[in-house]
Amino acid sequence: MPSMIAARLHAYGQPMTLDRIEVPQPRPSDVLIEVKACGVVPNLARVVSNFFGTLTPDNKMMPPLPAIFGLDPAGVVAQAGEQVLTVRPGDRVYVNPARSCGSCRMCRSGAPLDCPSFTLQGYFGRSQEIMRAYPYGGLAQFITAPVSALVKLPDNVSFAAAARFGYFGTAYSALRKLGAGPGRTLLINGISGQLGLNAALLALAMGATKILGTGRNVALLERVKKLAPERTEVLAVPEAPTLPSPASGGGKGGGADPLVGWAKQQTDGYGVDAVLDCLPPGAPATALLRALFCLRRGGHAVNVGAVLETLPINAFWMMTNRIGVAGSVWFTTAEGEDMAAMAGAGTLNLSVLEHRVSPLSKINEVLAGMNHRDGGFTNFVIDPTRVD
Ligand SMILES: [Zn+2]
Repeated sequence: MPSMIAARLHAYGQPMTLDRIEVPQPRPSDVLIEVKACGVVPNLARVVSNFFGTLTPDNKMMPPLPAIFGLDPAGVVAQAGEQVLTVRPGDRVYVNPARSCGSCRMCRSGAPLDCPSFTLQGYFGRSQEIMRAYPYGGLAQFITAPVSALVKLPDNVSFAAAARFGYFGTAYSALRKLGAGPGRTLLINGISGQLGLNAALLALAMGATKILGTGRNVALLERVKKLAPERTEVLAVPEAPTLPSPASGGGKGGGADPLVGWAKQQTDGYGVDAVLDCLPPGAPATALLRALFCLRRGGHAVNVGAVLETLPINAFWMMTNRIGVAGSVWFTTAEGEDMAAMAGAGTLNLSVLEHRVSPLSKINEVLAGMNHRDGGFTNFVIDPTRVD
């Protein structure tokens, strides 16, 4: 049997080890992909430390060990199962790790992201059965995946850039829900981070008229503004605002919070049409809440960030102001194809990403060093073809 090298986690909180294992055989509707690049998101370090496992006491969300992680693989089709019609060996692809059961009511109605078994291959999820069926994350030289998960890559999209599609897609799916486009104003809360920068690039590609963004690092905010100075405004804000309690009337407009006043000023006093929240874990709930106060009457917010605190929101304020708040996670393969098409046409600008490519053998060092980055501009990529 041919063999390959995979980075495997044998115990949570321990380093991964490079193990030689068999190259998997694709099932009839699956494809074998030789991985050329796999994105590493900052959150992976929390995942392999079992941060999320401890949030669910029975550990039902985590894959069985030893596990191969790696959310965002891109590579070349090496072998296609006998029922595969739409890709051939040699095709360059991104592998959407979103897995669903394919047969429940939500899957049948075309909403696979709402499947109760929703699972991210190479990460964690709601179905141990799916994690056993697709145990190969992108931190391996070969993976199998369903043909329905593949996004064909245009020639001008590199494997390293495609390895960033996970967070791009998360932002894109949410921006579609928000109707981001011509004539619309958008506030991206946390615009210079890994998710927020992707959201800004996509909102520009989708034609959003005015993009407001918050962050803490002034230098990074200025770099974001330079992407499209005539359509982008940025504001440095402290991480922990002191908002008046919504129950005491703070919900009427956020009190004297500088962000709320600035957002109103930028929109002729109306407030923004939409808010996309991209704040990282650890940000306080008030930092999300003040962004909601920037919405105009009838405005909507989608949260793709990872604020863990409970949101103290006034339901009466939401009702009378017709405010919508929703959560969103990940994206469909069709949405991934939209992004590939935008990148292929050049409307989605991927050239601002600074790829930091490391061999598979450096995965533990990469995970340990992720805090040293230029916000969302740094793109952490593992090249599994190199194990030096
Ligand atoms: Zn399903």
